[in-house]
Amino acid sequence: MSDRLPTGSARTDDATTDVATDGGTRTDDATTDAAADGDAVTAVDPDALLRVEDLRTVFYTEHEEIHAVDGVSFDVHEGETVGLVGESGSGKSVTARSILGLVDEPGRIEEGAIYYRGEDLTDDNWDAHRGDIAIVFQDPGGSLNPVYTVGNQIREALRIHQGLRGSEARERAVDLLEDVGIPDARRRVDEYPHQLSGGMQQRAVIAMALACDPDLLVCDEPTTALDVTIQAQILDLLAELQREENLAILFITHDMGVIEDATDRVNVIYAGEVVERAPTEALFEDPAHPYTRALLQSIPGRTPPDEQLPTIEGEVPTPTGPATDCRFAPRCPAAFDACTTFHPRHQSLDADGTDRTAACLLHDDTHDRTPAEAFDGTDGFVQSDGFGESGDGPHHTGPHADGGDRS
Ligand code: ADP
Ligand code: MG
Repeated sequence: MSDRLPTGSARTDDATTDVATDGGTRTDDATTDAAADGDAVTAVDPDALLRVEDLRTVFYTEHEEIHAVDGVSFDVHEGETVGLVGESGSGKSVTARSILGLVDEPGRIEEGAIYYRGEDLTDDNWDAHRGDIAIVFQDPGGSLNPVYTVGNQIREALRIHQGLRGSEARERAVDLLEDVGIPDARRRVDEYPHQLSGGMQQRAVIAMALACDPDLLVCDEPTTALDVTIQAQILDLLAELQREENLAILFITHDMGVIEDATDRVNVIYAGEVVERAPTEALFEDPAHPYTRALLQSIPGRTPPDEQLPTIEGEVPTPTGPATDCRFAPRCPAAFDACTTFHPRHQSLDADGTDRTAACLLHDDTHDRTPAEAFDGTDGFVQSDGFGESGDGPHHTGPHADGGDRS
């Protein structure tokens, strides 16, 4: 249960006078405890290698504002792998691009801070840390230039980031290709990208990223385009590099199975917001947010072979304005009336108030409904009753949706 300990910078220190000023996320008379920025707990560590705080990235398209990243906070420490997981369209790649300073028009980082070793990159400090943070994208073909050899591209990165040239750069490029497990590296260094398989291309991209000698590697779905065996090999490679180089990795994926294998801690993102954060093991043992539960239920292998794999019906909504409710409520099997009128803030779920948080009214003491009433003690959801009785609530769909007769 939540004890709503104030941590991080988002809270004022007096919890009794701490009232929402966030312009409409509360739709009732906010006389009780609420955070100044709508985030009751921001469990980010000021000493972390990377600290993302209340990041908001907006795209101003011709017809609408898309709040792709809408108040995301998390941190990554040296040498650890932190996951960012959510369905397609939830804001993972925009978060990654924001961290690297790669948000293109019509997008803009509107609010928040991205601290790298305590320095806010959004104060135009990206160039100063260009090589410190490297990114690996989903599609290795798109990251490699088809008209240059692999070695050429690695040497270019070595020249820019480490000042290496000539034979020194060439030898280092061969070493890097060996480090990422490319056999016969001395020959392959002179090959063009199309001469390598998809798995080998991704290894080459990782070698290019390592040529910058980064402390943090942002991996945006690095294995999604690869088949399962190659996927496992790339995950092994990343784990090995992390051990040997003490790399920190921000691992972005839609795949909970990969999260379980690859990460130490995890942030679950939905429609531009982190909805749960936890050590990976704890998240898998006891998911707190209904969305996390739903994601876990849709992992292949967790459902008996004769049963159909549950899926979450519907799609991630595109956030076109500030949240005034729970964005997952329309798809949530555990939703109740308040979910349509309150924007849930992160509540601490553990005693020291830092490691585990969830942004869900089930964990917010100011609302009556409890997780025990919503979850049936196994993996499932109790069929909701209170929500939607008036008949005008969101339609209930979810992993256990049975045709919507509960709405
Ligand atoms: P994910 O990586 O989790 O699949 P993205 O971060 O790519 O999701 O996208 C998050 C949201 O931002 C989506 O609604 C997407 O349509 C929107 N978005 C991303 N890039 C742009 C862009 N260049 N212009 C407008 N909207 C964008
Ligand atoms: Mg993406």
